[in-house]
Amino acid sequence: MKSLQNQVAAFAKERDWEKYHSPKNLAMALSVEASELLEIFLWLTDKESQDLPEDKLNGLKEEIGDVMIYLANLANKFGLDPIECAREKLEINKRKYPANLVRGSGSATILYTQS
Ligand SMILES: [Mg+2]
Repeated sequence: MKSLQNQVAAFAKERDWEKYHSPKNLAMALSVEASELLEIFLWLTDKESQDLPEDKLNGLKEEIGDVMIYLANLANKFGLDPIECAREKLEINKRKYPANLVRGSGSATILYTQS
């Protein structure tokens, strides 16, 4: 991940685009790219979404790439490692949603109503 973070920083610097990369703009761009990812699945049935045709699969690859690029850029602004952030959050989620309490219960709906 650090390598990707270095690459996206170099990409922006080479183009003098850092001036546009405020945390606000990067967060907004990340959301836009996540929405572009969603658009690939828009109006598909659950079954169709599990077996994407080649053109949609290629689009999905590009949007996952875009999301990762903006996530890396945003993390750079705060000196964060997204992988470490995800690991730390997963540990929080393990404590918040113990498998023995939520297994098979449609994720965390039971615990949401308790907090
Ligand atoms: Mg995109």
